[in-house]
Amino acid sequence: MKKSISIFFLALLYMLCLCDSSFSQGKLYHVKWVDDGDTIVLSDGRRIRYIGINAPETDHFKNGNKTQRGERFGQHAKKYNEKLVHLKKVRLEFDHEKYDRYGRLLAYVFLKDNSFINEKIVQAGLAYCLSIKPNLHYSSRLLKAQRGAIAQRKNIWKKLENKKGAFVGNQKSMRFHLPSCQFGKKTAQKNRVAFKTVYDAFYMGFAPCMKCRPNP
Ligand SMILES: [Zn+2]
Repeated sequence: MKKSISIFFLALLYMLCLCDSSFSQGKLYHVKWVDDGDTIVLSDGRRIRYIGINAPETDHFKNGNKTQRGERFGQHAKKYNEKLVHLKKVRLEFDHEKYDRYGRLLAYVFLKDNSFINEKIVQAGLAYCLSIKPNLHYSSRLLKAQRGAIAQRKNIWKKLENKKGAFVGNQKSMRFHLPSCQFGKKTAQKNRVAFKTVYDAFYMGFAPCMKCRPNP
């Protein structure tokens, strides 16, 4: 008798855990605002930065004055993101780190039909893969999407100058540099990878260094 009671309670506990995890995973949030191609604001005020991707910057304004000029395709990426999620309900998935240094919540964003927004933006050629350890849960899926977009020369890939040269990749940081960059020079021998073109570096999932900007 005692045994059957404990089995009953264990089963109950298991079901409660299942319910709880499916509830938290399935929770939907309303998207109030789209900042750009990789950042949104929920109606509860939280700002979400998409994990694993980087979309071109849009113009930045402060008190009506432009403080930072946007990058090519910045506006295009924002419009596309708006089309996908603005005023819609989304589901969030998290990785190891929950916040970035700006206090933004880091997430993989899905629609109710399970379309994966981070992936869709990369598939459209409106962002490149940005792998930041330890948040790599969907990195191979995102890289696959990027390879498809590169093959079809979509948006940023069509316009990207395919400079030939010697680029220095760092396998640890997953960034690539101009050979003149101090960070490129400092890369330890065991972490170094050489690339002949920027496309080769992107194909392997390396992202450009923000200091030397090997992809103008
Ligand atoms: Zn660099």
